[in-house]
Amino acid sequence: MSHQLSEKINKLVPSATLEMAAKARELRAAGKDIIGLSLGEPDFNTPDYVKDAAIQAVKDNYNAYTPVDGYVELKKAIITKFERDNQLRYEPSQIVVSTGAKQSLYNVAQVCLNPGDEVILPCPYWVSYSDIVKLSDGVPVEVPTTLENDFKMTPQQLREAITPKTKMLWYSSPCNPSGSIYSREELRALADVLQDHPQIVVVSDEIYEHINYGVTPHASMAQFSDMYDRTVTVNGVAKAFAMTGWRIGYLGGPSHIARACNKLQGQVTSGANCIAQRAVITALEESPDRIAYMVTEFKERRKLILDLLNGIPGFKCNEPEGAFYVFPNVSAYFGKTLKGKTIGNASDFAMFLLEAANVATVTGDAFGNGDCIRISYAASVKEIEEAISRIKAALTA
Ligand code: PMP
Ligand code: GLU
Repeated sequence: MSHQLSEKINKLVPSATLEMAAKARELRAAGKDIIGLSLGEPDFNTPDYVKDAAIQAVKDNYNAYTPVDGYVELKKAIITKFERDNQLRYEPSQIVVSTGAKQSLYNVAQVCLNPGDEVILPCPYWVSYSDIVKLSDGVPVEVPTTLENDFKMTPQQLREAITPKTKMLWYSSPCNPSGSIYSREELRALADVLQDHPQIVVVSDEIYEHINYGVTPHASMAQFSDMYDRTVTVNGVAKAFAMTGWRIGYLGGPSHIARACNKLQGQVTSGANCIAQRAVITALEESPDRIAYMVTEFKERRKLILDLLNGIPGFKCNEPEGAFYVFPNVSAYFGKTLKGKTIGNASDFAMFLLEAANVATVTGDAFGNGDCIRISYAASVKEIEEAISRIKAALTA
């Protein structure tokens, strides 16, 4: 029946992270004891003060359509947050609230890209970038980075990737999946390359901003006055506030891009959920110190998982400075046969771990790096210990 569907949707690949999470759920329902380290989803509850704001919003009868680009009060809270945390100044016309940062990214692609426009994606990149670009008729241009360079794109690599068709550069910092963080100096060096190419718009995905382990302070491309007018800063509450299911993300950027996103949303969603928006006002108005306990916990888990993984032969890890993923290179296993299964690539490896160790991870292919797998440590210490010990046992048996 696929002929009834559009070519566009037939070409779209499902989100590998969500697909693996669904597979893990299915296996669990069938009675298998699966440990899920595939999904980037904090295992904390949403903080009480945020939940209380949502309950109050229900009681206060917030039930009507909101402004398409978000409540005025929420946009105000976002503006204050950008000033407080990022020293970025925006007017309300430059802010758009969406149904998750994923939709903010999709909006920007839809409003900026014409068919054939190239979008530079340093690899590894977040799983959905490539398909969002393709859905918008753009062409992803992958720039491979190395573990030795902490999975960061160099200015030279950026220079070489730019063509007359380059329209955008997209990256996340802290990065999903590598946890790498671009320092202010590194961003400046990339911005210097972009000086010769004023047509290039930058999308800086900062959704892991607060999940930073204190080595490299967070920096934003839009902080450079010469980049401000062509940088879209995307952020959201899913990760830092343990609010993945609430589906609120937002962007700050040039007003013509924000207005275009608003117009698009007006035809597609009519705006984000009203109760969730009210709760996010409180989340953003409160000090980020109130969510620091989660970061402290993630930091301990990061140490634990790195220690455990480094004890498995053939795993090579960088030390992630933010987010809650490790992205080990497992190519040492390619070509080997384990328990009768030949491991040809990272997808085979992730599948082997699911079947032989009952641990769900995600193949690095989905992030544009076929030598690695992504392991999320947004899981309990007990789950992490058990999962890595199962992986070790499956690989050394
Ligand atoms: N960007 C990155 C780098 C992510 O990891 C995610 C995953 N949640 C998103 C964007 C999308 O966030 P949201 O859940 O707010 O749509
Ligand atoms: N961003 C999370 C991840 O990378 C959630 C899944 C998704 O949105 O695709 O696992």
